[in-house]
Amino acid sequence: MSKQSGPRALGPRLEQLFDVVVIGGGSNGVAVARDAALRGLKVALFEKVDFGYGTVSRSTRLIHGGLRYLELFDFGLVREGLREREILLRTAPHLVRPLAFFTPVYDHTRVGLPKLRVGMWLYDLLSYDKSIPNHTFLTAEQAKAAEPLLNPDGLRGAFIYYDGFVPMPERLCLEAAVQAAQHGAVVANHAKAVGLAREGDVFALTVEDLLTGESHRVRARAVINATGPWADELNRELLGPTDPGLRRTKGIHVLVPRLSDRAVVMLAESDGRLFFAVPWREFSLIGTTDTDFDGDLDKVTAEEDEVGYLLRETKRIFPEARLDKVYLATAGVRPLVRDPRAKSEGQVSRKHRILHHDRLGNPGYFSVLGGKITNMRSVAEETVDAVVRWLGVDARPCATRTEMFPGAAGADMDRFRERFIAQHEARGWSRDVLDNLVDLYGAAAEQVLETAGEDAWLTRRITDDAPDIWAQLVYGVRREWVYTTADFLLRRTVLGLSPGMAVEAAPEVARRLGAALGRTEAEIAADLEQYSRIVERMAGRHITGAVETFGKR
Ligand SMILES: Cc1cc2nc3c(=O)[nH]c(=O)nc-3n(C[C@H](O)[C@H](O)[C@H](O)COP(=O)(O)OP(=O)(O)OC[C@H]3O[C@@H](n4cnc5c(N)ncnc54)[C@H](O)[C@@H]3O)c2cc1C
Repeated sequence: MSKQSGPRALGPRLEQLFDVVVIGGGSNGVAVARDAALRGLKVALFEKVDFGYGTVSRSTRLIHGGLRYLELFDFGLVREGLREREILLRTAPHLVRPLAFFTPVYDHTRVGLPKLRVGMWLYDLLSYDKSIPNHTFLTAEQAKAAEPLLNPDGLRGAFIYYDGFVPMPERLCLEAAVQAAQHGAVVANHAKAVGLAREGDVFALTVEDLLTGESHRVRARAVINATGPWADELNRELLGPTDPGLRRTKGIHVLVPRLSDRAVVMLAESDGRLFFAVPWREFSLIGTTDTDFDGDLDKVTAEEDEVGYLLRETKRIFPEARLDKVYLATAGVRPLVRDPRAKSEGQVSRKHRILHHDRLGNPGYFSVLGGKITNMRSVAEETVDAVVRWLGVDARPCATRTEMFPGAAGADMDRFRERFIAQHEARGWSRDVLDNLVDLYGAAAEQVLETAGEDAWLTRRITDDAPDIWAQLVYGVRREWVYTTADFLLRRTVLGLSPGMAVEAAPEVARRLGAALGRTEAEIAADLEQYSRIVERMAGRHITGAVETFGKR
């Protein structure tokens, strides 16, 4: 992997003229930077917080065609998702894997057996080239035996189908950024685009380095706004008054004790919406909701009534489920392409749009609107095609259909894992530490262990109840642009996405990170304070309040 991070001096590397500068390090932005760099373009990528910080980290983490979109007759979108699912399963096998989805059907539910049967059949048809199994049907008796905690009243049966799951989409984004950097891109997180000027045929983007306070002028021939739900705001800031392109809808998730080893697809009784309980580590991630949102995107929080809705509806299907503990709740905002015909939030198509602002007087400036994590690659391909046409350059063809992500050790991750564990268990490493390293880093797990070999403290666990070791922090600083405690606890590892959100370990992480980056005591305290504010938003009193009201019923 590239040696990009550590205390940074962005200035000299930003003096060149870039072909394209990408703003936003979510799934779309990193995929565009990766694709463009692989085609040989000169690329710069700026993300104001961290890779995957935005909508990506608040998602359901599915790599799917979207069974639900069949109801909207969005067959093209479903097919695109299913094709991209297969590509991601193949090119990022260490991060994306198949998952079984259990779909109970009841007498009284909005979508009955015949309709679902057609949906399942279509989903299989549209994924004719898949490597994962077709759906199966279970009778009511078989369904009860498979999921003993399921509400048996009115149960007609259940379908099992397969989709993709990416437990850490934050790391998928990170690896795309790493690969862009390996192919020459200048990549910076904690760097915010704040202004744009035109100098003849060239754009001059003002970028603020939020770590150093320095301001940089970055020259590029094309600019891509890939800031997801922030896109309209940024366009107004950089270009002046523009028509809004987005409808923004909020979705929340709650992390609760494990309900089932399969993902469960449920239909809410109160409004007929479809939602999921996805097994994620030893928990279930339940979500999501879908409501219009017009607030501050950096302060979006799950509200008590939203948490209550998910708990209440889950209890209808799993009456005996333990929902008296909600470890944390995430809240994100979908950047949906504005559709004047759609009345409700759920009716808005999930199709993306690539908008060239040439007719609006800004040739060379593009906005990427909408899209899902699942189709980040195809959206990027379409975007870079448009940019290459506009630039009129002779770039290499798109390579991302087959190019493996950096942590992929060939197609056979199972063999890599087996060999890695056998080799390092023999040297005294615990199996859970090794498994966790492969889950997070894929083949780069070897490099994390090399880092651990430098000093005894690096081999120690960060907390007693998780397998992560201190070498991961040092590796993160050197190779993965870790600059804050939140970067490390929430997006490079899952330490912070656990009960208690690692608040006890956070001060030591902040201190060691501060030492590695040469920070003052005040800077270390500020970093820690920032993490505490995130913990308050994700696991504060409002969440406990919702559990008191709804979880125990
Ligand atoms: C609740 C929910 C569940 C979802 N579930 C799924 C799912 O299961 N599967 C799926 O495929 N999709 C899912 N999605 C959709 C998916 O997460 C998003 O559509 C996708 O992540 C959008 O990516 P993006 O890159 O456009 O935006 P984002 O991920 O939001 O990234 C935009 C980035 O731009 C940065 N930025 C903003 N302003 C600036 C600036 N001035 N300078 C520099 N950087 C800036 C932000 O910090 C942010 O990181 C879900 C979405 C939600 C809300």
